[in-house]
Amino acid sequence: MALTLPAHPDPLADRIHDSGLLHELAHGLGGPFHYLLPERFDGNLAAFRAALADAEVEGRVYYAKKANKASAFVERCAAAGAGVDVASLGELRDALGHGVRGEDLVVTGPAKHEQLLRVAARQGALIAVDALDELQRLLDLDAGRPARVLLRRYPPAQPRSRFGLDDAHLHEALRRCAAAGDAVRMEGFAFHLSGYAVQPRADLAGELVELCLEARSSGLSADRISIGGGFPVDYVAADAWDTFLTAQGPGHYHGGKAFAAGDFYPYHSPVAGAEALRAILAARPGGTGPSLAERLRQAGVTLLLEPGRALLDRAGSSVFPVQGVKDRAGYGIVTVDGTSLSLSEQWFNSEYLPDPVLLGERTGRAGQPYRACVGGASCLDSDLLTWRKIAFPARPRVGDLLVYPNTAGYQMDSNESPFHELPLPPKVVIDHHGDRPRWRLDR
Ligand SMILES: *Cc1c(COP(=O)(O)O)cnc(C)c1O
Repeated sequence: MALTLPAHPDPLADRIHDSGLLHELAHGLGGPFHYLLPERFDGNLAAFRAALADAEVEGRVYYAKKANKASAFVERCAAAGAGVDVASLGELRDALGHGVRGEDLVVTGPAKHEQLLRVAARQGALIAVDALDELQRLLDLDAGRPARVLLRRYPPAQPRSRFGLDDAHLHEALRRCAAAGDAVRMEGFAFHLSGYAVQPRADLAGELVELCLEARSSGLSADRISIGGGFPVDYVAADAWDTFLTAQGPGHYHGGKAFAAGDFYPYHSPVAGAEALRAILAARPGGTGPSLAERLRQAGVTLLLEPGRALLDRAGSSVFPVQGVKDRAGYGIVTVDGTSLSLSEQWFNSEYLPDPVLLGERTGRAGQPYRACVGGASCLDSDLLTWRKIAFPARPRVGDLLVYPNTAGYQMDSNESPFHELPLPPKVVIDHHGDRPRWRLDR
């Protein structure tokens, strides 16, 4: 039996798919492409801000740029006065070049390059310091203005993390900041946890609030904390997801490939995006006492957050033209123009699971349901966009389009390369002019 995992209904995407625009773009661009919906980014950003406002918490959202290389989303940040989280000189330049102000940037990442530290300090960006030697390099720079820093906390509950300062290093860092006087403005603390759980974030945030109070007693300003990203995205319905997790096995995949259920992204999350922020703010750090929101208010601490994936929820999809269809015993192999490099999950011993949608040139085509996996147009046996035998409503035909829904968060471009000298799929920004969708290339 085929297992289906349809993405949540999306009327805006349906309208675009029904409009014929995607076939026109595939014709015009001559290959695969991604489309982006910046209005969705605006909506997600507004939802995070509303969660802060409703909890009466002073806060700021920084979009974690690594989740998508497109400029369109950074432009939305500049327009909305939101911050951007960058981790390289390239990302920093791109954000500045699209109008985000230096003081609205937070610079994360381990052992930052000297040049990145220098530009960040000169631009007045907030720098999340990951190690003592990095702090020292920053203090030794003469940037001409005080370096704004957060100290990134090593998460005791995630002992395998390679990020952050442990207790001893944190105290040494605080001592050096206090001794550095006007060379540095120690604004607070930061963490970024892997996983998507609410309580560990509230627990560690509560600890960082206490650290702010301690740091203030040595004369440091310490008035903000960053809780990083990791707000989950809810891609598919609960019942489909539960059924999938219990039933999936090698028989569902091309070549009898086995996936461990625990290696999949949690494609269903009952509490996702801005709702997860609401839950973190309402949680009690350590399990007792006042909520995190109350502790932030009482201590006069501003909450910074760095969502990547969650700001991109439903803000784009990836479109691959069908290039060939081959029958095998019991199922088919659809080969598309494009490669699995444009669906990054395929490179993490995992699979991007929301079902691709088949768009025929003429809609409403009658046909027998057809099961097929989806391969890329490369000479590698392992280049599959989908190992799972997808239940298509009809046998795909050359020229049909496969739309992978909701790929803007991390799927589109983190692993793309011009393998086989195939050009990188361009990104098309779609907005609405009245009722009519219109497009431009992302630049
Ligand atoms: C990757 C990253 C983020 C964004 O994580 P998401 O899961 O996309 O929300 C935020 N902050 C830091 C420091 C990161 O490394």
